[in-house]
Amino acid sequence: MSNILVSGGTGFLGAHLCARLVADGNLVVCVDNNYTGSIENIEELFNRPNFFFIKHDVTNPLGKLTRHIDQIYNLACPASPPAYQGKHAIMTTKTNVLGAINMLELAKSNNATILQTSTSEVYGDPLEHPQKETYRGNVNPISMRACYDEGKRCAESLFFDYYRNEGVDIKVVRIFNAYGPKMNPDDGRVISNFICQALRGEAITIYGDGSQTRSFCYVDDLIEVIVRMMGSKRGFTGPVNIGNPGEFTIRELAEKVIAKVGGKSKIVYHSLPSDDPTRRRPDITLAKSKLDWEPKIALDEGLDRTIAYFEQKLGIGLGVLAI
Ligand code: UDP
Repeated sequence: MSNILVSGGTGFLGAHLCARLVADGNLVVCVDNNYTGSIENIEELFNRPNFFFIKHDVTNPLGKLTRHIDQIYNLACPASPPAYQGKHAIMTTKTNVLGAINMLELAKSNNATILQTSTSEVYGDPLEHPQKETYRGNVNPISMRACYDEGKRCAESLFFDYYRNEGVDIKVVRIFNAYGPKMNPDDGRVISNFICQALRGEAITIYGDGSQTRSFCYVDDLIEVIVRMMGSKRGFTGPVNIGNPGEFTIRELAEKVIAKVGGKSKIVYHSLPSDDPTRRRPDITLAKSKLDWEPKIALDEGLDRTIAYFEQKLGIGLGVLAI
């Protein structure tokens, strides 16, 4: 069993990762400033003797820890476009870049393995489809999304420089769109927006004409491959694409959610945010061959589970109304 630090541990993915690592018997130190994460996401872990939480902003170095750290998962960063754009843009770049440096320094001083959760956003609005790890991307460096995209690209660059120059044992995964329970209902991502809108009987907001595509991976599949990547042999750095190759238009997604929730929500169209990628689908050949992994949960099943979560969370689900 290992001593593991998870930065961004109160966020959607971070909280699932902490729960998995705690259940596996590791000692887990969760670090987060709770800007987009929430204590509620990790509440169930507070009575576990092998779980610790430190409220901390990773743009500052972490003080001295009393325990040696064997592994670091670096997840800290707002991940939803409305959360990272606009007035939080500079903070987002700082979190990506200074956060990466601080976590890499910690890895170096502890001789720990460190995993970076990078993103499909490093491919920008991709000209290659599906996206392989060798594709170098099509990112607009002065767009509203650049704080996230370029921040994550710079973090990858830092990881590989610490690997080459400092001998740090690094792992890099590029996460495509993910969804599942513990998503923040208000963070503006498409699956949480559509489900919450449908459950509340509000209009479903499609940005643009809904012909843009995304490939959605259920959280349990993603956590499994992230843990596998951490356990891969030293020197296997990645980057590795992780996501579900099933590709859907945003309009198809809206129709699926409306059909499943069964309400009367109409679709309304809003303007497309600037530099919104038109197509996205991972090529996961590398993850399959090196990590013996592929996603098991199809969008239909994952949506059912996520709808059940939001029904309970919002307390306005069909089951509740039927009582
Ligand atoms: N989107 C939408 N309606 C919403 C929220 C998002 O049509 O209420 C679109 C958004 O413009 C994008 C896609 O859904 O094309 C995925 O958006 P999300 O913010 O979930 O993720 P990302 O853009 O980072 O892939």
